[in-house]
Amino acid sequence: MGKLLVPLLAILLFITCKKDDAETKIQVCHKNQKEGTSHTITINESALPAHLAHGDVLGPCFETVTICNQVWMLKNLDVDRYRDGTPIPQATTAEEWIAAGNAETGAWCYYNNDPLTGATYGKLYNWFAVNDPRGLAPAGWHIPSDAEWTTLESCLNEIAPTGNVGGKMKEPGTTHWDYPNANATNSSGFTGLPGGARGYQGPFTGIGDFGIWFSSTEADAIGGVWGRYLISHDGLIYGSYDLKKNGSSVRCLRD
Ligand SMILES: [Zn+2]
Repeated sequence: MGKLLVPLLAILLFITCKKDDAETKIQVCHKNQKEGTSHTITINESALPAHLAHGDVLGPCFETVTICNQVWMLKNLDVDRYRDGTPIPQATTAEEWIAAGNAETGAWCYYNNDPLTGATYGKLYNWFAVNDPRGLAPAGWHIPSDAEWTTLESCLNEIAPTGNVGGKMKEPGTTHWDYPNANATNSSGFTGLPGGARGYQGPFTGIGDFGIWFSSTEADAIGGVWGRYLISHDGLIYGSYDLKKNGSSVRCLRD
C-alpha cells in the first residue's frame, strides 16, 4: 500500500504543479455533431484528449469549397509550421530569401513583408516548403498536383464551355483585383485572389494583378515547377512554369 501511495502522490503533485503553470493553449477545429457545423476554438493542451474523443481535429478549421468532387480550401495557405510542428523559417530580406533558395530549404514570407496581406492572401512559400517531407499541408490535405489542377480546369470548362475558366475562379469586383478583373464571375466558388509573387532574387511583384499557385509537380530537372495563374486583364487560367526558388501562393486539396 505504502509503495503504491508514493508514486500516486508524486503524480498528484505533478498534476497540481502543472495546473499552476500557464497551460499551453492550442487550437482545435471543434465539431458540433448535432448541427453539423464546426469552428475553431482555443483550449488548454490538457483538454485535447477530450476534444479529440468527441471528433474534433487538431488545428484550426478550414473553410472549404467543393468543385466537381474536389474539396478545396477556400483560402490560400497561411501556416508557419510543417505538419509535424517544425517551424518554417520566415525570410524577410532579399538575402534571406535568396539564401533559402540556394540552400533549397523551405521559406515563407508575407507580400512586402506586410502581415496585413496575410489575412487576405495567405503566405507566399518557395517550392522547397511545398515539397518538404515534413508536410506543408495540414493533416488531411495535400498540395494539388498538376493533374489535379487540370481536372478542375476540365470540369469547369465542361459546365459551360466558354473558355472563361479563369473568370469562373476569380473573386468578382475590384476590392482586391485591379481593374478590369475581366470576366470574373466566381461561379465555381473558388474565389481566386491576386496575391502576387516573390521573385527568386527577393522582389515582390503583382499583388492586385495576378494570383499564382504552385502545384506539387516538378516540370524539369533544372528547377521548374508547374502551377496555375489568374490575371486581371482576362478570364483565362494559365499554366505557369515557376522556379522552385520563387514565392507563390498555395491552395490545398482535401485528401
Ligand atoms: Zn470540442
